[in-house]
Amino acid sequence: MEMQQRERETLVIIGSGPAAWTAAIYGARANLSPVVFEGEPVREMIPGGQLMTTTEVENFPGFPEGVTGPELVERIKEQALRFGTRTVAENIAAVDFAGGPEAPLRLLPSYSAAVEAAAVIVATGARANWLGIPGEERLAQSGGGVSACAVCDGALPFYRGKRLAVVGGGDSAMEEALYLTKFAGEVLVVHRRDAFRASKVMAERVLAHPKIRPVWHARPVEVVGDEVVRGLLVEHALSGERHTLEIDGLFVAIGHTPNTAFLGGQLGLDAKGYIQVQPWRTATTVPGVFAAGDVMDSYYRQAITAAGTGAMAALEAERWLAHHVPAAASPAALAPAR
Ligand code: NAP
Repeated sequence: MEMQQRERETLVIIGSGPAAWTAAIYGARANLSPVVFEGEPVREMIPGGQLMTTTEVENFPGFPEGVTGPELVERIKEQALRFGTRTVAENIAAVDFAGGPEAPLRLLPSYSAAVEAAAVIVATGARANWLGIPGEERLAQSGGGVSACAVCDGALPFYRGKRLAVVGGGDSAMEEALYLTKFAGEVLVVHRRDAFRASKVMAERVLAHPKIRPVWHARPVEVVGDEVVRGLLVEHALSGERHTLEIDGLFVAIGHTPNTAFLGGQLGLDAKGYIQVQPWRTATTVPGVFAAGDVMDSYYRQAITAAGTGAMAALEAERWLAHHVPAAASPAALAPAR
C-alpha cells in the first residue's frame, strides 16, 4: 500500500463508542497522548456507534435514573477530552500492519495523509444487518418506509398512527417495537421462530403491550410497495404458506456485523468475523494492535463491557509500549519517524 507519511503517534484509537473513549481516558491518563479517529457522519458508521441510536440505557452502572445513549457517549467522550485526548473526524480507510515487529503500524485516513503509530486500538464496533430481500434496499434508500433504526426514523410524521412491523426476535427488535408504540397505531413483531431470543424482561414487556402483536414463524420474503411500503410478504417457516402483512413501515432489527472491512484481512478474525483476541486479553494477532468493544465481542455486546474492554486495551497497549517501544513512555521525546 502506498502511503504518504504524516506523523508518528504513540497511540491511535479507531472508533467513537464507549470502548474507544474509555480507551482514550486510560491512554491519556497514562501519558500516551492518544489520538482518536472518531469517524465522519456517513450512513451505517455514525460516530458514537450504536448507542447513538439507543433511547434509554438503564443498565450502565452509575446512572440509577438511566441515561440516553447519545448522552452517555458524549459524557465518556468529554471525560477523554478532559485528559487531553486529540480527535480527528475521519475514518481510517486502510491499514498496513505488515511491516513486522520492528516496523511502525501504518494507518490511512479517508482524506488526510497517512499516520504511523507505535500502538493501535481498534474499536470500530458493529453495524445493523439487513434482510437482503426484494424491495428492502430500494425503499430504505428512497425514504419509502424501510429503516434499520426506529430511534432515528420512528418519530417521522410518515409513521404516525400507522401499522408498522419490526423484524427480529432479539433485544434490539424488542427495543424498537416498544419505542415505535409511542407513534404507531399498531406494531407487528415479525419473527421466524415462535420464541424471542431477547432477555425475558424485554420479551415480557413486548408481549404484554396492547399495541404490539407478535407474528410467529414468519420469514420475510419481499417488501411490497412501489413508492412507499404497503406490505411485507412473509412465508410460514413450517408450512411454507405465504401471505402479505399490510403495513406502512418496516424496521429491520436482525443483528449486527462487525466493522472490520477497512482492516483488509490484516488482523485474524474469529468464525463470526469478529476480531480475534487472546483469551481474557485484547491483544490481536498483530503485536501492538489491540481490539475493544463490539468489533471483538459477539457475546456480551453491552455498553459496559465495551467500556471495560476499552480500559483493558489501553492498559495492555501501555504495557506493550513500555516493553517494546520504551521511547513511547515519554511521547514528546518521540522522533517524527523511527
Ligand atoms: P440478536 O440478539 O443477534 O438477535 C437477532 C434476531 O434477528 C434474532 O431473533 C434472529 O432470529 C433474527 N434474525 C437474524 N437474521 C435474520 C434473518 N435473516 N431473517 C429474520 N430474522 C433474522 O441481535 P440484537 O437484537 O441486535 O442484539 C444483539 C446484542 O445486543 C444482544 O446481546 C442483546 O442482548 C444486546 N442488546 C441489548 C439491549 C438492551 O439491553 N437494552 C438492547 C439491544 C441489544 P433467531 O432468534 O431465530 O436467531
